[in-house]
Amino acid sequence: MSETLILTPRWGTKDSHTLASYRRDGGYAALAKALAMAPSAIVDEVKASNLRGRGGAGFACGLKWTFLPKDVRPRYLTVNADESEPGTFKDRYIIEYDPHMLLEGIAIACYANDIHTAYIYIRGEFKRQAEILEVAIAEEYQAGILGPRLLGKLDFALDVHVHRGAGAYICGEESALLESLEGKKGYPRLKPPFPAVIGLYGKPTIINNVETIANVPWIVQHGGAAFAALGVGKSGGTRLFCVSGHVNRPGVYEKPVHYNLKRLIMEDCGGVLGGRQVKAVIPGGSSAPVLTGDEIDVSMEFDALKAVGTMAGSGGVIVMDDSTCMVRALSRISKFYADESCGQCTPCREGTPWMEGLLERIEHGLGVPGDVDKLAQMANNIGGQTICALGDAAAMPVQSFVKKFRAEFERHVTERRCPFGDHAWGKNQETREAVIGGVTAQV
Ligand code: SF4
Repeated sequence: MSETLILTPRWGTKDSHTLASYRRDGGYAALAKALAMAPSAIVDEVKASNLRGRGGAGFACGLKWTFLPKDVRPRYLTVNADESEPGTFKDRYIIEYDPHMLLEGIAIACYANDIHTAYIYIRGEFKRQAEILEVAIAEEYQAGILGPRLLGKLDFALDVHVHRGAGAYICGEESALLESLEGKKGYPRLKPPFPAVIGLYGKPTIINNVETIANVPWIVQHGGAAFAALGVGKSGGTRLFCVSGHVNRPGVYEKPVHYNLKRLIMEDCGGVLGGRQVKAVIPGGSSAPVLTGDEIDVSMEFDALKAVGTMAGSGGVIVMDDSTCMVRALSRISKFYADESCGQCTPCREGTPWMEGLLERIEHGLGVPGDVDKLAQMANNIGGQTICALGDAAAMPVQSFVKKFRAEFERHVTERRCPFGDHAWGKNQETREAVIGGVTAQV
């Protein structure tokens, strides 16, 4: 039985990014249908669809829309295209292959919520995708879809702007994104108030991920119930899973939201490279707690993954085979979060480089008894103690790696070396001493 695909059917079609191609395939019929509906009826359809945010938090999209205060104008829509979570690479393809699907979703969301200005905040490195979006938006203005009369029909003005970030991971955090959009340093804000109440320029703002908004035209066309039926429980539809690491066929896969993780890896991705065993899988981007190879026979639905102690996050599935050193893998993840901490709050600013340094020390055979406990303690002191979720994102991998692969961490300490072999640069004793010397000085 063929699976229903919402987001990917046009990928690979020549000129799929053009307005002519999109219209040829039925594009903008959903917006035309939406404009004949009451705005509240569209919100009801999105609520009925059980569409949950695809950016990481998995919050119900329709419910989020209802948080806008009724009597405050203007309101804004901000689309989060910052896509920086390691292991996640789907939004860039939606923009590259089907930008008009996203723009149609934006137009419907704006009409449904009486919003007349939308911003797409795109990751700085996505130069090509930003250019594709700008061309697509220009096509729409020229065709009269955007501008003073939505779809050239309704007396409803809508402007859409692309704003490029400067490559900071933290600007994918919704309130830091707003600060950056306002021209300020990308510091996350204290919440509450939430952006739906006080957001961009102090006005009510909806922030949705690219993939989330790209689903909206299909929901309007086919109905919320049909979308909900593709999923399970409180999670409707399909989603894009980005599979990377030690698999034969890495890539982006559109599957029902509750698809089985093991099946995705072993069947769709052709199993593990060289026929090796799965040692560990991070199921939702690098901040999601790791699963062991024995734990992957599980649905990837948001609540199902939560029930086994991890999260669906951004859909970034990172597969590690049995040749992987878990200390080295965690060390790389920790380095990322230490680099990307904005420095506003002490546990994150100080704790993330401490964890990075301690991991480097353990990995290079200079760990001492008690280091593994110290590492876990550091993570516990960061989690839940910070302004934004980056603190948790840095702590959760450490907590889960240590909990599930503790023996491997201890072995590094007792054997005073990495059991999986040294780094390439580690063969150069001088470089090794210099790096370890620096690391030891930090911790
Ligand atoms: Fe900045 Fe980290 Fe605090 Fe977030 S948790 S506000 S990234 S210092």
